[in-house]
Amino acid sequence: PEPFLSVRDLRVRFSVEDGTVHAVDGLSFDLERGRTLGVVGESGSGKSVTALALMGLHDRRTTSVTGEVLLDGHELTGAPEKRLERLRGNRVAMVFQDPLTALSPYHTVGRQIAEPFVRHTGASRRQGRLRAVEMLGRVGIPQPARRVDDYPHQFSGGMRQRVVIAMALVCNPSLLIADEPTTALDVTVQAQILDLLGDLRQEFGSAVVLITHDLGVVAGTADDVLVMYAGRAVERGPVREVLRDPQHPYTRGLLDSVPRLSSDPEEPLVPIPGSPPSLLVPHPPDGSRAPNGGGPLRGCPFLPRCAFAGRVGGGDRCRTERPVLPAGRGAACHLTERQRRTAFAEEARPR
Ligand code: SF4
Ligand code: MG
Repeated sequence: PEPFLSVRDLRVRFSVEDGTVHAVDGLSFDLERGRTLGVVGESGSGKSVTALALMGLHDRRTTSVTGEVLLDGHELTGAPEKRLERLRGNRVAMVFQDPLTALSPYHTVGRQIAEPFVRHTGASRRQGRLRAVEMLGRVGIPQPARRVDDYPHQFSGGMRQRVVIAMALVCNPSLLIADEPTTALDVTVQAQILDLLGDLRQEFGSAVVLITHDLGVVAGTADDVLVMYAGRAVERGPVREVLRDPQHPYTRGLLDSVPRLSSDPEEPLVPIPGSPPSLLVPHPPDGSRAPNGGGPLRGCPFLPRCAFAGRVGGGDRCRTERPVLPAGRGAACHLTERQRRTAFAEEARPR
């Protein structure tokens, strides 16, 4: 059967004064209904840009999006703005990191939750208000009938994020894209919101794309994970397998830099040294646009930060040949399985 969401060779480029940023450089993935895909990476890896491009929310004057995005068989890339608008809020919804950017301070939460419902279903204001009360209850806000006429500033940060989720789900979207939905919240509230997303996904059967820099968030929430680095997917697989047996040196580095639930609090966390590469391709000095030429980087983009490149025949291949992510479970890395197992075992952090 066709996957519910299918993304093929998504490329997102935007112009800045000095050149073109190749923010997403050939991303492909599939997502089934009722499943959660975690998209993980450091800031600058292309996660948020991907989310905006999927929704058609990028700035069309500066940003070019190519590739194929099929939602339930409908092509989204290049679709007219009118059609995208109908899809957003109706079949696709989005939750951002900061609930305050999604909510207007001037209107009651009830009105804001009801608004997309009324617009997309043609329901009356009264029906909209009832629906808002129902949704507030479903996202776990106590006494929803009494809170429906309150304003956003009357809620705590965690409760506001619940309001935003209620607003996102009011039209029963079949796809929910959540970009760092819990990053601004404290750990306890974070866990509650993630549980809530899990329950709602089951109840509504939505597919969820959960974007985060935090592998810990993905661990308890997602079914599958896609690890992004420098605008590309470098590893994919079922969450449990990726966490238990990471295949890409970058994924392994991410794992070593987050606290494990089971781990000794004294255990040192090891951040990955260095930072992601620039994805800017400068304009040539003659003022013409730089040719695309397959992106700004030769070889493996992780090479400057990789502790294992020497294992691949002295690292020459890592310098000259861009590793490709295979279909299914796998990593975009030149290490053979044997080299990886030996290398990872030898450099294991004490557990
Ligand atoms: Fe490291 Fe080479 Fe693998 Fe890139 S291809 S992650 S540089 S070992
Ligand atoms: Mg981001």
